[in-house]
Amino acid sequence: LVSREAREENTVVRVGNAAIGGDGLAVCAGPCAVESREQLLEAARMVSGAGAVMLRGGAFKPRTSPYSFQGLEEEGLRLLAEAARETGLATVTEVVDEYSLNLAVQYVDVLQIGARNMQNFRLLQMVGRSGKPVLLKRGLSATVEEWLMAAEYIMSEGNGQIILCERGIRTFEQSTRNTLDLSAVPLVKSLSHLPVIVDPSHATGDRKLVGPMARAAVAAGADGLLIEVHPDPGKALCDGPQSLTPAQFAALMEELRAVAAAV
Ligand code: PEP
Ligand code: MN
Repeated sequence: LVSREAREENTVVRVGNAAIGGDGLAVCAGPCAVESREQLLEAARMVSGAGAVMLRGGAFKPRTSPYSFQGLEEEGLRLLAEAARETGLATVTEVVDEYSLNLAVQYVDVLQIGARNMQNFRLLQMVGRSGKPVLLKRGLSATVEEWLMAAEYIMSEGNGQIILCERGIRTFEQSTRNTLDLSAVPLVKSLSHLPVIVDPSHATGDRKLVGPMARAAVAAGADGLLIEVHPDPGKALCDGPQSLTPAQFAALMEELRAVAAAV
């Protein structure tokens, strides 16, 4: 169902004022985790002002260590809904199980399946039945074929509103958090009709690499980007080193407009 043979024309995922897979570049931005009302509203106002179409923020965080900040859970979802009302942005948040899914559908527009759950097939089936668009990240060490099969799990439940997100894969290289597989963008767009976006934040783990990789992703034909932005990255409870400051994000958006106009 997700293949080009099954459908020739590109799928456009529409949420609120956002269209992913259409003509323009759709940028989703916001903090890794929702931390407080002040933090989220400030981030939302700022990314909206800079031209983002969707606000991201984690309320259920799948952290490597059980002692790291795990997210505000339902309170975080409530804050996302409040930020959406104030700014008009669509919202996306990660769901990690049935509990978080049942709560998230009440508050946000798009459900994110994180890299660690890309092959959680029961969860894929559940989001497939949720009636909400899904942002499906590529697994930490998933092949393109496995990633597309994960999308097939969602679509086979009747939900074709899927945004694929390349977020870097595990390789032998240790000097970046992951290795961004940019060739996956044109490759997957040739194999599938689904929109493909790129997450240069988790791909690199390093704020100074986010801009160059974001520009490269747009040049490679990505339909959009997922970028972590924090009002004060030094104080972030999660992924501060890869989060852009509001000023850096606004400057990057200007550059991206120029790249998008050239491709
Ligand atoms: C995230 O988007 O905050 C996240 C946890 O990403 P990933 O699943 O790609 O690691
Ligand atoms: Mn993160």
